[in-house]
Amino acid sequence: MKKLLTALVALLLIAAVATSALAVKMYVTTDQAKVRKSGSKTAEVISRLPEGGSVEVIETDGNWSHIEYVNKKGKKRSGWIATKHLSANAPHKHTWSDWRVTRQPTCAKAGLKEHTCTTCGVTKTKEIEKAKHQWGQWTVTKKATCAAAGEKVATCKKCGKKSKKKIDKTGHTYGEWAVEKPATCAEKGVRSRTCKVCNNKETEELEQLAHTPGPWTTLVPLTREADGERAYKCTVCGMEVRETVKAEPSLARKDKGELVKTVQTMLGALGYNVGKLDGIYGGKLDAAFSQFARDNDLVFAEGWIKPAQLDALVSAWVASIPAEKWMGVNDSLVLTADPAGKPGDVLSFNWILTNDGFDACTLKAVLMGKGADHDFRGDDIVALMGDEPLKAGTANSLGGAFSIPATAAEGADVLSFRAVVENDKTGEIWLSNAATYKMAG
Ligand SMILES: [Zn+2]
Ligand SMILES: [Zn+2]
Ligand SMILES: [Zn+2]
Ligand SMILES: [Zn+2]
Repeated sequence: MKKLLTALVALLLIAAVATSALAVKMYVTTDQAKVRKSGSKTAEVISRLPEGGSVEVIETDGNWSHIEYVNKKGKKRSGWIATKHLSANAPHKHTWSDWRVTRQPTCAKAGLKEHTCTTCGVTKTKEIEKAKHQWGQWTVTKKATCAAAGEKVATCKKCGKKSKKKIDKTGHTYGEWAVEKPATCAEKGVRSRTCKVCNNKETEELEQLAHTPGPWTTLVPLTREADGERAYKCTVCGMEVRETVKAEPSLARKDKGELVKTVQTMLGALGYNVGKLDGIYGGKLDAAFSQFARDNDLVFAEGWIKPAQLDALVSAWVASIPAEKWMGVNDSLVLTADPAGKPGDVLSFNWILTNDGFDACTLKAVLMGKGADHDFRGDDIVALMGDEPLKAGTANSLGGAFSIPATAAEGADVLSFRAVVENDKTGEIWLSNAATYKMAG
C-alpha cells in the first residue's frame, strides 16, 4: 500500500513538472542507469548514473524523463532517462548480509558470491578470482647444453593444464688458454682453449711482436726544407723498418701570433697580397708565401713555413729597405750591445734603444754581421723580434736576449748589430745605427 502511494505521488509530481516546467528533485533507483541523448531506447548513451544519485527532472512524457544531472567530472548536463529508474524517495542505506559463496572458484573458472539487503531484499552478486594452479613436479623434457637452452614441463594437479619453462643454456666451461703458435715480430700467433663439457674449441689471434731495432741508417738526410728518412734492420727477423723524420716548421697553418703578423708584414712590404694583418696563418698567407717561394726558387709545401724559408723572406725584406732609411751613428736611435761570454760560447746580448724625438716605434728584428763595416743588407738576421714596442722620446731598455751560435762569430774580431724599427704612425721602416762588439780573447 505504501509503495503504491509513493508511486502515485511520484506520478503526480511528474505531471506537475510536465505542465509547470518546474524542476523536481528525484533519485536514481538502478545502478549504472543509462542517460541517453533523447527519450528513445536507440538514442546514444551519454552517461551512467549511480544508484541513489539525485537528478532534476525538467519534463516527462511517461516512459522517458528529461533530466539535469551532475556528471563524474562535476559538470551540469542534461539528458533522458527511463522514468522507471527514478523515484521521488531518497534511497535508504542498504544493510547487507554476509557474503555467501554460490560457486567455488577453480583454477579454470572464477567463483561467485552474493549478499542481500535485509531491509529491501536487493541482492548483489560479485565474482571471486580464479584459484591458482597447483603445479606438480617440474620434469626436464630437454636438457640445457653449453650452447642451447633446455625446457621443463609441469602439470596442474587440479585441472591438468601443462606449463612449459625455458632452462637457460649453461655456457662453455673452458680450460686454460694454450699457445698453438707463438707470435713473432714477423707474424701474428694463435692460442686456443677447449670446453671441458662439449669440447668446443675457441681460437684467438696473438698480436705481432714489435721488431728489435738495430742501429739507425740515414736514407734521406733531413734538411730545414724537407723531411728526411731513416731505417733500421730488425736484429731478430732482419726486416728493414723505415721511418720519416719530419722537418720542424717555423710556422704551421692555423698558427697565431706576432711572428705570423711579422711574416704578413714583410710579405706585404715586398708587394705580396696577404689580406688582413691579423696574425693568423690562413689561406691568403699560404698563397702569398707560395708566390714568394716561386719568385725566389724555394721549395715550399703549403701549410708549413720552414726555418730556411723564413730566413730567405727576412733577407729579401731587409734587402728591400732603401739606402736612405739606414741611420747613421749620430741618429737618435741608438743600439748598444752589451755582450757577455767569450768567443766559442753561445753569446747573449741585451740592448737599449733610444729614440729621442721620434714617434712611437716597434722593434721588428735585430741584424748581425761580422766586422765593423758590415753592410747588413743581405743575410744577417740574428733575431726576429715579433713586436717590441718603443715609447716615443725615451730610452727604451728592452731586457730581452738572443743567442748567437758560436759558429756565427767564428773568425771575427768585431761583431756589429743593427735594429730594424717600424714607425708606428707612418709604417716606415728604419735601421738603427750599428753597435759594435769587439770579441774578447
Ligand atoms: Zn536495501
Ligand atoms: Zn589448474
Ligand atoms: Zn661447452
Ligand atoms: Zn723483426
